[in-house]
Amino acid sequence: MRHPVGTLKAIQETDPDVYTAIRAEEKRQREKLVLIASENYASPAVLGAQGCLMTNKYAEGYAGRRYYGGCQHVDTVEELAIERAKKLFGCEHVNVQPHSGSSANMAAYLSVLKPGDVILGMDLAHGGHLTHGHKVNFSGKLFQSYSYGVNRETERIDYDEVQRIAEECQPRMLVVGASAYSRVLDFSRFREIAQAVGAYLLVDIAHIAGLIATGLHPNPVPYADFVTTTTHKTLRGPRSGMIMCKAEHAKAVDKIIFPGLQGGPLMHVVAAKAVAFQEALSPTFTAYQRQVVANAKTLAEGFLDRGYRVVSGGTDNHLFLLNLTPKGVSGKDAEAGLDSAGIVVNKNAIPYDEKPPAVASGIRIGTPVVSTRGMGEAEMRAMVELMDQVLQHVHDAKTQRRVKKDVKAMCAQFPIFHSYQPV
Ligand SMILES: *Cc1c(COP(=O)(O)O)cnc(C)c1O
Repeated sequence: MRHPVGTLKAIQETDPDVYTAIRAEEKRQREKLVLIASENYASPAVLGAQGCLMTNKYAEGYAGRRYYGGCQHVDTVEELAIERAKKLFGCEHVNVQPHSGSSANMAAYLSVLKPGDVILGMDLAHGGHLTHGHKVNFSGKLFQSYSYGVNRETERIDYDEVQRIAEECQPRMLVVGASAYSRVLDFSRFREIAQAVGAYLLVDIAHIAGLIATGLHPNPVPYADFVTTTTHKTLRGPRSGMIMCKAEHAKAVDKIIFPGLQGGPLMHVVAAKAVAFQEALSPTFTAYQRQVVANAKTLAEGFLDRGYRVVSGGTDNHLFLLNLTPKGVSGKDAEAGLDSAGIVVNKNAIPYDEKPPAVASGIRIGTPVVSTRGMGEAEMRAMVELMDQVLQHVHDAKTQRRVKKDVKAMCAQFPIFHSYQPV
């Protein structure tokens, strides 16, 4: 991959300050164990496309009907992205222009809803997402929002309870999807609930898109009116979003993205999406997703064996939450202690958390990045051991330094970013 190297060299010459920060970030990504469930390391081809000169092109509109001349080649990449997304997910229609997961959700809502309409989504405090109706977010300000959560005992979604709440609040849109839920979602049941109350069904697969594309999690496309996603989490593409929908909503979705909400699409990012989707169609990507799930299971089991509390008792996907209350450690302190030891996680509220979100009782652990590096179950077991050492003495700098050395050695065995050699 010569392109990113050339680009870095140009940055070095033009702007040493930004160059230095990028190189430091590269070193961080190389030398730390990243267990942030929403992150991944995009391939050199995806990075190359995302950094390419298609950023220079204005292409308001859609392929074949743009508001600018000179769109032949950006049309090609947008058509490729669409064709590949359809192959991956089996959707009737797809719009690949949303700039992010949040903009995709905003567009899906506004394609059929009016301000003031009722939406029902999963509570952020139970693993949902801000854009599913949280008060501080546009979704909670623009719409009258209600939420469902998980059962206190099982820590899983209680579908009868969702149905009860839906019957009570009568939503126009039922929103499904999560950022911190480790169990399989029952889309056919959600479809039944939506139908019973006359609501549209929106499924946001931002986190699990890679698993769905490879058949490792059921696909909501047959059940939902709208399926939104990010493209940079398990799907391992550029930082961006996408909306899939039934053919009957195609016009409304395209119109709300442009001219409704966005201006010119980011054609370099659309190109990177096309590349990522091509990668996702290959058998090696399926093998990768299998490893993601196997690694998450191994990590969760490792923690359970050491007496940790895993929310809902385990995982079916790429992530899980550790409830650190029995260990007497807060999520905030765990995040800081682990980071000092070279292990990156995020503090996370657990269902029915008694601590404020900025402190939180848990951490979220995900395996997309370490699996991209090629790590397997043996490394996961070693990682549990290292994390346990840090969490047992969360303020002990000596332990952190010792673990950090082991982490660095482990990362060196699974090198990444070969193309980013010093210029
Ligand atoms: C990450 C995420 C989003 C938002 O994606 P951005 O690209 O950060 O805007 C939306 N929904 C869910 C469920 C997510 O996990």
